[in-house]
Amino acid sequence: MIGVYGGTFNPIHYGHLRTALEVQALFNLDQLRLIPCRQPPHREQPEVLGQTRMEMLQLAIDGVAGFIADSRELDREGPSYMVDTLRSLRQEMPEQSIILFIGADAFLGLEKWHRWQQLFDYAHLVVMTRPNFSLQPESEFFRQRLVSQREMLAAKSAGYLFFQAVTPLDISATQIRQIIATDGNPQFLLPDAVLAFIRQHQLYQAAPLNDRTLNAN
Ligand code: ATP
Repeated sequence: MIGVYGGTFNPIHYGHLRTALEVQALFNLDQLRLIPCRQPPHREQPEVLGQTRMEMLQLAIDGVAGFIADSRELDREGPSYMVDTLRSLRQEMPEQSIILFIGADAFLGLEKWHRWQQLFDYAHLVVMTRPNFSLQPESEFFRQRLVSQREMLAAKSAGYLFFQAVTPLDISATQIRQIIATDGNPQFLLPDAVLAFIRQHQLYQAAPLNDRTLNAN
């Protein structure tokens, strides 16, 4: 079983890392691929280069068994469509179960994703929710794919929808960027090694220096 965890990771923080670790154990994943997007289709371009976000990701997961920093979206031209990412993984792993993990917030906007229905041709979709938070998908498309047992995902390589409660940590990259821009201290919201890198490269400052790591990718 292969997990896919996509994001802007601008920067990666403990909200991402804790949930990634939990789903790795819950779904008994052989590998969890954390995939930074080059150009998110639905949002503003992050002001930090993809390569820089990748370096922070690598620092964050250094030594974590089974976690892989996957650069395929950064290596591809144009917008980062998850459906293209899953198709390329599927070509590499024709038989494996692949699970795409997304947050409940992302799931609420899923129907705006490029060719979103085809995500289910290549992978299962697991929505990470807060405990005791139940999302009842209204569309027939989702209801047909919804399963209530985690174990069901091993029965097929793709095509199911499952809701998994994870530990909610109220951390966002936006909050971290704001803390840094206002000269605050975001320690303990993200790994120390990532924070040291941010300070070294003076990322997320209110008045950015003309640093090679800044400006759009
Ligand atoms: P931003 O604040 O810049 O929007 P973010 O912190 O939400 O960023 P993303 O990189 O956009 O991070 O998120 C990638 C994925 O991680 C999404 O599926 C999102 O739902 C999930 N995620 C983000 N923060 C958390 C958190 N604190 N707990 C659980 N999942 C999270």
